[in-house]
Amino acid sequence: MNILVINCGSSSLKYQLINMVEEKVYAKGICDRIGIKGSVLKHTPAGKDTVMKEVAMENHKDAVREVLSALTHEEYGVIRSMDEIAAVGHRVVHGGEKFSASVIIDDEVIKAIEECSDLAPLHNPPNLIGIEACRNLMPDTPMVAVFDTAFHQTMPSRAYLYAIPYELYEEHKIRRYGFHGTSHKYVAHRAAEMLNKPIEELKIVTCHLGNGASICAVKNGQSIDTSMGFTPLAGLVMGTRCGDIDPAIVGFLMDKENISSEEVDVILNKKSGILGLSGVSSDFRDIEAAISNGNKRAEIAMEVFVYTVAKYIGAYAAAMNGIDVIVFTAGLGENNSEVRRDVCKYLDFLGVKVDEEKNRCRGIERDFSAEDAKVRTLVIPTNEELMIARETRNLLKK
Ligand code: ADP
Repeated sequence: MNILVINCGSSSLKYQLINMVEEKVYAKGICDRIGIKGSVLKHTPAGKDTVMKEVAMENHKDAVREVLSALTHEEYGVIRSMDEIAAVGHRVVHGGEKFSASVIIDDEVIKAIEECSDLAPLHNPPNLIGIEACRNLMPDTPMVAVFDTAFHQTMPSRAYLYAIPYELYEEHKIRRYGFHGTSHKYVAHRAAEMLNKPIEELKIVTCHLGNGASICAVKNGQSIDTSMGFTPLAGLVMGTRCGDIDPAIVGFLMDKENISSEEVDVILNKKSGILGLSGVSSDFRDIEAAISNGNKRAEIAMEVFVYTVAKYIGAYAAAMNGIDVIVFTAGLGENNSEVRRDVCKYLDFLGVKVDEEKNRCRGIERDFSAEDAKVRTLVIPTNEELMIARETRNLLKK
């Protein structure tokens, strides 16, 4: 059984064709610059060179058509015909309070996703466009929506409610939702497998540290709290996002700088975080290079980042009354051993102890805790596409 996984943005469409018997990626790629001059398809069949095809893609339907044509191409295709695609799994950013699990897409589901668009105006509309394009070209193929927010719907109200007038929650659905749910769920389950323990018996903190970053407290297999909030701006300091700040800063900035709320939004989303603090870059590799050249602001930016991650883990130790495992994943979590080590240094009071030698690894699954550590520390590369494919298969089986 082959499942096509689609992650659709406003001008790009990423895809993977995954064979579920072997859980193997047969091909993956991206359509870039959709609707913009110079649109291009990059298609990589497993074990072969990437094919670059410059082709006009005016809209997402064109893009899906190109993907299907690449997948079935005589030379660089991986299947003979579209019939070999059993189902399509779509990444959808926001499922609001409506979706606490993945669902098979029908007209009603589409309507419900549309209703959540208010909550994710930059993400849900392109996700829907991708779904419509696929439904158009593959009318007989079942489609599944997998939501970034769904895993966190198990949070208790004490974790998801903000202390603002309750009517605002009722009227506008202002609450903590959390994101990166597919990634947190995947690595939490992998952690349990690696430790050979039932997930129902574990207290896990998963740290998804990429350009966007979030932390999740997973108790007995369920998300009970997470650092991102109503939007993905909250929580940790990120590449360009500020993370948690005093909400009064918004109004203060509007007055002092005489700018609109939209302009403040741009500052907090695009010009803050590691980039804003350091003045160097949003990429941690550039920050590290700047630190070794003696750049003090880069050093402070890194310190603030690491401190915030450690503080959240400490908070989740309280939320779960202890921690058995801490998982590091995504670009930084998988590749940056210094960040992992420095975060863990704050946590020795919990019984976290790193084996420096084992921690010297990149992009592989590894338990890097010292023999006598009370808390296991793991690196687990995330795999959101595989998780989406699994959810899609599981729904098909039902
Ligand atoms: P996103 O998917 O949110 O865009 P990623 O998960 O790709 O982000 O993470 C991006 C961050 O991870 C960057 O700050 C980058 O410095 C860091 N990163 C990615 N790859 C590496 C690597 N090989 N070595 C060190 N850092 C890396």
